[in-house]
Amino acid sequence: MIHYTCDLCGRTLRADQDTRYEVKVEVYAAYDPMEVTSDDLGKDPAGEIEDLLGQMKDMDAEELEGQVYKSFRYDLCPECQAAFLKDPLGKAMRQRTRFEHN
Ligand SMILES: [Zn+2]
Repeated sequence: MIHYTCDLCGRTLRADQDTRYEVKVEVYAAYDPMEVTSDDLGKDPAGEIEDLLGQMKDMDAEELEGQVYKSFRYDLCPECQAAFLKDPLGKAMRQRTRFEHN
């Protein structure tokens, strides 16, 4: 029998008996259409690419990937799914943590 584990509370979810929810999170850099100014036209594109490559040399692959695109997948039990939907970004948790530190 296939078993899953809730990634939040650790409860075992049996594929044939328990309702299981999947959460997929995608985080990627949002690009807005750029406005080309006369300043941009005066720039040296080859020099800019060289600068960018120079900056990338000091970063590891994981760091670079994290800046561009990252996806996560989690299994949740019904209780944790309900809690997640109420606060997907963990805002309440952040506020509580900030309050405790002050
Ligand atoms: Zn759970």
